Amino acid sequence: MPPITKRVSLALYSNQRIFAIKRPMSDSLPLPQKSWPELRPGWVWLCGAGPGDPGLLTLHGLNALRQADVVVYDALVGEDILSWAGTAELIYAGKRGGKPSAKQRDISLHLVELARAGKRVLRLKGGDPFVFGRGGEEAQTLVQHGVPIRIIPGISAGIGGLAYAGIPVTHRDVNQSVTFVTGHDQTGDTPGSLDWCAIAQGSQVIVIYMGMKHIAQIAQQLMESGRSPSEPVAFVTSATLDHQNVVESTLGTAVDDAKAAGIVPPAIICIGRSVLMRQVLDWQSFESGAAPRNLDPLGRGRPAESA
Ligand code: SAH
Repeated sequence: MPPITKRVSLALYSNQRIFAIKRPMSDSLPLPQKSWPELRPGWVWLCGAGPGDPGLLTLHGLNALRQADVVVYDALVGEDILSWAGTAELIYAGKRGGKPSAKQRDISLHLVELARAGKRVLRLKGGDPFVFGRGGEEAQTLVQHGVPIRIIPGISAGIGGLAYAGIPVTHRDVNQSVTFVTGHDQTGDTPGSLDWCAIAQGSQVIVIYMGMKHIAQIAQQLMESGRSPSEPVAFVTSATLDHQNVVESTLGTAVDDAKAAGIVPPAIICIGRSVLMRQVLDWQSFESGAAPRNLDPLGRGRPAESA
């Protein structure tokens, strides 16, 4: 086996560069052959739209969009995806541009009304509907009102968003577990029910949703509970979208670095050594011709796949 070199010359990569090939996809393309479920009148399907890139919508999601009479969508669902909804009525139920957000209970009851009116209803949410998305509550209310439902999972920002930044949410040399945390609870505060000390001590990699508001407090609590100020941190904003931005930092400097970079939510925060893998896996930079910064960022000194 050749030794792994940490630095790679651009020349080595220049003749191997792979540029993303983008071709338009026709709206009328049929779904692949399979018997697809039918969205029937009076039903509500709760569907995850993925973290942003419309290509991350699932085929079940597309099948739902093509049948829905009404699409009730959240702030993080993109225009491209909505444009695939055919003639469906589009109802916005999120928070955008500082407008007051619809109350959760009102949204759920509106879904019940639409279903009772005999509509084919698609409830479209960013990422995965059951990951910090209140999908469970909406689904429960629907069931309690006798409305039949189907759940269509989506790619969650804490997994897919990190992947677009070149950060594997688990990596054998780094973590055998991952903790997904919300940075604030219903009251807007850092979740009081969370034992940050236990998280600091027990979580190899921590992925924080909605964490920007309280990042100072969170970083402080983690360091006071024993996490090193030099531990790698990444902020991924608008993950998977064209304007995705990634800021690499450390726990000790995260607050200042985030401020200096002018981070604009939505942002997903990853704390842990898996962030280092971005040095070798930042595939979006490769598309624009950059070379990997470091082929062995964890310093294994041996090939990636060896035990
Ligand atoms: N159900 C969603 C999460 C909803 S909570 C999911 O599974 O992804 C909203 C939070 O998700 C945001 O505050 C942010 O932390 C994260 N998020 C969602 N989409 C994102 C994106 N494209 N880029 C970065 N963070 C995102």
